[in-house]
Amino acid sequence: MRVSPSVRAVQVPDDNPMHPDFTSIYLIGDGQVLTIDAGEQMERYEWMLKGYLAAVEKAEIALSGITHHHSDHIGNLKWMRDELGAEVLVPKEAPRLLKGKLPRSGVETLADGQVIELDGGICVRVLVTPGHSVDSVCYYIENEGVLFSGDTLLGSSTTTVSDLGAYRRTLKRLLDLPNLNVICPGHGPLVHDPRERLQSYIDHRDMRERQILGALKEGGAQTSWEIMLKLYPDINPRLRRAADNNVRSHLVQLEEEGRLLLHPGMPRKPSAARKRREVEHARQRDLVIRKAKRYEAEKRRAEIREQENPPGAEWIQPPRYELK
Ligand SMILES: [Zn+2]
Repeated sequence: MRVSPSVRAVQVPDDNPMHPDFTSIYLIGDGQVLTIDAGEQMERYEWMLKGYLAAVEKAEIALSGITHHHSDHIGNLKWMRDELGAEVLVPKEAPRLLKGKLPRSGVETLADGQVIELDGGICVRVLVTPGHSVDSVCYYIENEGVLFSGDTLLGSSTTTVSDLGAYRRTLKRLLDLPNLNVICPGHGPLVHDPRERLQSYIDHRDMRERQILGALKEGGAQTSWEIMLKLYPDINPRLRRAADNNVRSHLVQLEEEGRLLLHPGMPRKPSAARKRREVEHARQRDLVIRKAKRYEAEKRRAEIREQENPPGAEWIQPPRYELK
């Protein structure tokens, strides 16, 4: 799908409740292409990307950038490097966060304000935009007004935040971008009213903060989970942890601002004995599964043997027939 003169979107269907609709990989430029994000490690991404490249005359992936280190954005980086020979561009914290998951060679780190120049005079500026994750970056093509937001801003839902103070500063920075026309998010449809959407994200965070303060006004010390259940009584259970993380990030920010009294928690000590028991349990379970699979294969082989061979178990000497 064509987004702007130099940008195309490859939208790959998805069934993860964390990112409804679809996950996108964006292609910038003709011939030597820069991709933004690399999807999840599932074959359908490779197939869709291959199909897209085949349909676009002479396009090949020369550069492959990511917006942050989460697995649904980096899944096919190694493939892009090893099979397609792309140069890989990652945020500067990503090598630490992605130990063992990056290609062995051809990886470069990005800096704030850096401009990636592509054929045809296309300039893509890197913006360091922490908040969703510690290493989140966006990419901006100013003369076309196209912003690639990763998970900093999504197409049809709100996002999760790891550092709320940083996230709020990031939203304000994006709101100030000159000539902003369309946002290409990591998941979900394109955003054609970028300023309104950014403002609504800012308002949404302010509203959530007021709700949390409201829940706290009911009195007593509460855990983030208790507050989450009050704020989101009907949430899909698989999204509860994510919602709890969001509440927690507000509480951390409010506490840092000196507005809350913190009763420190008591973390569970990691027990070496428990860890060993868990490892042993998993080993025993795998052993049983392997044994069962072996028995099943043996049973199948026995059935085949029985079908292929004379009924030896029924006769010491089977009856014999001869012409009179
Ligand atoms: Zn994502």
